Amino acid sequence: MSAPATTPVPRGPLPPAAVARLQAALGAERVLTDPAECLAYGYDNSKRVALPQAVAFAQSHDEVVAVVQVCNAFALPLVVRGRGTNTTGATVPIAGGVVLSLERMNRILRISPGDRLIECEAGVLNGDVQAAAAAHGLFWAPDPTSLAYSTVGGNLGCCAGGPRAVKYGTARDNVLGLRAVTGAGTSIKTGCTTTKGVVGYDLTRLLVGSEGTLGIITEATLKLLPKPQTTKTLRACYADVRSAAEAVSRVMNQPETPSALEFLDGDAVQLAEAYQPTGVPAGVGAMLLMEVDGQPASIDVALRAVVAAAEGPGLVELKSAANAAETEALWACRKALSPSLRRIAPKKVNEDVVVPVTRIPELVTGLAALSRKHGIRIVNFGHAGNGNMHTNLLADPEDPAQMQAVQACLREVFRLVLDLEGTLSGEHGVGIEKRDFVGWEIAADTLDVMRALKKTLDPRGILNPGKALPD
Ligand SMILES: Cc1cc2nc3c(=O)[nH]c(=O)nc-3n(C[C@H](O)[C@H](O)[C@H](O)COP(=O)(O)OP(=O)(O)OC[C@H]3O[C@@H](n4cnc5c(N)ncnc54)[C@H](O)[C@@H]3O)c2cc1C
Repeated sequence: MSAPATTPVPRGPLPPAAVARLQAALGAERVLTDPAECLAYGYDNSKRVALPQAVAFAQSHDEVVAVVQVCNAFALPLVVRGRGTNTTGATVPIAGGVVLSLERMNRILRISPGDRLIECEAGVLNGDVQAAAAAHGLFWAPDPTSLAYSTVGGNLGCCAGGPRAVKYGTARDNVLGLRAVTGAGTSIKTGCTTTKGVVGYDLTRLLVGSEGTLGIITEATLKLLPKPQTTKTLRACYADVRSAAEAVSRVMNQPETPSALEFLDGDAVQLAEAYQPTGVPAGVGAMLLMEVDGQPASIDVALRAVVAAAEGPGLVELKSAANAAETEALWACRKALSPSLRRIAPKKVNEDVVVPVTRIPELVTGLAALSRKHGIRIVNFGHAGNGNMHTNLLADPEDPAQMQAVQACLREVFRLVLDLEGTLSGEHGVGIEKRDFVGWEIAADTLDVMRALKKTLDPRGILNPGKALPD
């Protein structure tokens, strides 16, 4: 992990000719150059900050093309931004240059329920896609907790997911095609409007998760799914984390895939209960929150199958919600977790590592050993059905010795994850935070191929420099 938050350093103004061309393309009112106004676009949820030299607001694909052309002509770094909710510094303009905000490209262009698709501009909020789809009994699968204020472009840029990814997949699995602008200023159209299609290379999947380093997505054709008619929620409490981790494997090794399978270790449960008691039995070592969804006629069969898999050694209590109020009560512990962690450790290090589901027991045992070895409290929770664990290292940022121990511990956490055939990020992405570790996971030859792809799509290296790939 690189250094913590930086202080914004003014870089001086852009060349006046570049500003004039941006203003000619967008209108003067949609180009900010005053550092005081630009500062708001230098942050994201990583708590880092760097000052852009200009902020541009595009309202159409053609305007995005124009901005890319200006940045190319003057070799200006260009960072595309949705709503800046990412946690990795991915939208912090560390090299200065222009931040291109797509927040005004927020039109839903077309919805075709019969084709189960929606076409929209990249700045549309995920929540607005959900509302438009819900009017036709449909939904878009990616459900990050930030859906009310994160954009489709950002969701695709980071390949966002959420609890229901275990059954329905992440952003990458739920996009049919894209309209985008490469770093060279070329307009491209990827994919198609059907769920089958094998003509040409799959540039859609290449762009998704590329964190604005290969192209700027301007429009997306998203795959919609029928909204399940009914949902049932279960809470299973276990004596220890290993029992819960083994239950995850059992649940995933039977035919009824849950629509959510969330894990909280004992520390996470206790923190959440201290923040807001929700009736979890005292002293439980771990908890699973599970949901099954489907048709009313078949939901009880699915529920029984998941209950049978959740039962086993170490189970302390298993509760099923009978109505909406009880469902909310069962989820309350999970929802209390983030605010409770923020209260005790506002500057915690929050990782989102992933291991194959069958290796979760080894992961939790290994993390406990690393916590003891380095004297660092580690709280784990996450989307266990995908093997995606939010591993939180709690430390006092004012204590240099503790922060050093955190860094040493983190390196061993990453080694452990890779030894278990896992990956360093499931949904938050790389940004700046994990860039130094990408070479641990991806072999040098493969990284060279990725750099060659970047060079093809972004020959002058203007798109989001310093992110996603190590130099
Ligand atoms: C409270 C909270 C809860 C969260 N919960 C989750 C969660 O459950 N799951 C999850 O996956 N994430 C979660 N996140 C992280 C974040 O919300 C997601 O990564 C989200 O997808 C970012 O969307 P955004 O519009 O804010 O994108 P930004 O942060 O603005 O951008 C993210 C990345 O995408 C790139 N990008 C943005 N727009 C485009 C575009 N049009 N074309 C190409 N690249 C683009 C940017 O350059 C950047 O690299 C959470 C964040 C917060 C603050």
